[in-house]
Amino acid sequence: MQSFINYIKNLPFWHFITVFVAIAIIISEVLIIIQSYILHGEIHNDLLIVGFFTPAIDAFVVFFITGLMLIQLKENETKLLLSSRVFHESHDGIVITNAKNEIIDVNPAFCEISGYKHDEVIGLNPLILSSGKHSPEFYADMWQQISAHGHWKGEVWNRKKNGELYAELLTIFTLKDNTGIIINYVGVFSDITQNKKQQEKLTQLAHYDMLTGLPNRTLFSDRFHQAIAHSNRTKTQLAICFLDLDNFKPINDNFGHGIGDQLLIEVANRIKANIKEDDTVSRQGGDEFALLLGDITSYEQCKQTIEKIHHALTQPYLLDGYSHTITTSTGITLYPSDKGDIDTLIRHADQAMYQAKLVGKNRFQLFNTEQDQQNIQKHLQIKEIQQAFINNEFCLYYQPKVNMKTGVVFGTEALIRWIHPEKGLISPLQFLPIIEKTELEVLIGAWVINQALNQLNLWIQKGIKLGISVNISSYHLRSVSFFSDLEKSLARHPNVTSGSFQLEILESSELGDLNTINHIIKTCKNELGVNVALDDFGTGYSSLTHLRNLSANTIKIDRSFVRDMLDDPGDYAIIDGVIGLANSFSREVIAEGVESTEHGLMLLVMGCYKAQGFGIARPMPIDELYFWLSNYTPNKEWLAAGNKERTQKNDSS
Ligand code: C2E
Ligand code: MG
Ligand code: MG
Repeated sequence: MQSFINYIKNLPFWHFITVFVAIAIIISEVLIIIQSYILHGEIHNDLLIVGFFTPAIDAFVVFFITGLMLIQLKENETKLLLSSRVFHESHDGIVITNAKNEIIDVNPAFCEISGYKHDEVIGLNPLILSSGKHSPEFYADMWQQISAHGHWKGEVWNRKKNGELYAELLTIFTLKDNTGIIINYVGVFSDITQNKKQQEKLTQLAHYDMLTGLPNRTLFSDRFHQAIAHSNRTKTQLAICFLDLDNFKPINDNFGHGIGDQLLIEVANRIKANIKEDDTVSRQGGDEFALLLGDITSYEQCKQTIEKIHHALTQPYLLDGYSHTITTSTGITLYPSDKGDIDTLIRHADQAMYQAKLVGKNRFQLFNTEQDQQNIQKHLQIKEIQQAFINNEFCLYYQPKVNMKTGVVFGTEALIRWIHPEKGLISPLQFLPIIEKTELEVLIGAWVINQALNQLNLWIQKGIKLGISVNISSYHLRSVSFFSDLEKSLARHPNVTSGSFQLEILESSELGDLNTINHIIKTCKNELGVNVALDDFGTGYSSLTHLRNLSANTIKIDRSFVRDMLDDPGDYAIIDGVIGLANSFSREVIAEGVESTEHGLMLLVMGCYKAQGFGIARPMPIDELYFWLSNYTPNKEWLAAGNKERTQKNDSS
């Protein structure tokens, strides 16, 4: 009935006029016929015809129009029924509000999703569903779009009647009247909570560590960029820290991965508990964690946080009835004093952590930017030297050694030189310290030995009777393969008598365990027959101990004593003492750095006959050495002094 009334209300005006006129004509026709019958006692035929047909036509018109009206009514009723079914049976929630945004109708799906009953919400503002998860700006933007375009679509978190959150994909559109004024707002929404949860799970997997729930590397990288921006904005420092548990592996190995995992989870919780809400801790893998500590105003402040974390991590872990303890090593680098991308800063923190481990673990270390620059520089230099070695840019110079008493050139010292294609000749003191304690030092050392042995071999073929000494670094000497390599090198030069080959070991260098060194020296001497000299003797901390414990054949008095022996009684006394000791321990003695005849004369008087120095010859390339040898004339004054000493000895005997 209601729908019929609605239908009638909506019928066009002319429908009513037509039906009204038709009915009025029929009534007037019938009245005329009745009047004629009363007046005349009969009905006139014409009148009857008119009176009959006219109403008949009218009746037809009325029936026709009414029929049309009924058909239209039926159609409209069907449409209304359909709309109503759609509204009621839709799985999407529908909420209709009036212009004041008061709910005037909701469908069952709305009730099902929101948990509210139909009558509970009528007259209320849809804001009752608000979750509080969206900012006022979000809603302002939404309404701005609705008023500008008449519709809005987006994802909204709302709250059910029971307080549970749900996500919906919501479309809001307006209904306007003929004049364009909004009369209704319609919201249609579907529940997408499941999709959202799925999405969140994927995000969680992509950004968080499964075990500890901490941000993983990907999220750490995001946070890093935000933290850098924050540091730049607030002009505060950012600490990038790298933590590594010191003794985690044994726990994992001895108690199983389950316990190891539980410990890592606890570690993560303890770190989280000791940093600020805005700071980040991420698990980088295994037992490694990285931290971003923002708003740092001083290193002291950063230190305090790390100390707090270390303290928390050293507390016992009660797992499965056992108490476990661990310690932590941490490396720290501070932005912006240390600038770089995430990889660089993490690498720096990692390097500092490694240093902390090296110096004894259970501590933290700040990355040293200057040291790093030096390391980088050194690394580049090592690479350059390595390339020079590959390019064959090294060669040996030879410095003659003479017996001042007899005038005989009995040997040479092979000294390495780098002939740089652009820079020219480079002294060993400029590049050997760079490769100290590296594999390259061992490689180059082995090359020197082979070059010297080749040279000796050539001299034997040429009939030149000269020995060669080579300098051996203590790192090379102590390398595992030193002995076997030397043995092989000597075996490759069967003509060389090993007695003409000498190893010069720096007395001043860090020799390490003297027993080990002496064992090497002895094996070289006894098994291979090579000579060993203690080079730069007197410059070491415990020369006497070395003299006693190292069974070297020769002692080379360091040139620093020789240089000043004529003027400095102290140096004179040292040389005198060294010569005396060498005699007592039956070692040969040679002075290096003999720059003048006077030096030689003094040494002869003191009982040191062998010498090497600029006073005799400078180190020189092999071709020059041949030239020098062919032009060599012994120092007459030295010969004379030697002869005099010999004569005196003969006279006294
Ligand atoms: P060293 O073994 O004590 O070699 C002697 C150094 O003294 C040489 O310097 C030589 O040129 C210099 N010298 C010799 N006589 C005099 C002199 O009368 N006055 C002065 N002022 N200096 C003199 P060089 O060739 O520059 O070598 C320096 C050091 O580099 C060597 O000292 C040695 O320790 C090291 N070295 C040189 N070649 C090699 C090598 O092939 N391997 C290793 N491991 N070290 C080497
Ligand atoms: Mg030497
Ligand atoms: Mg020396």
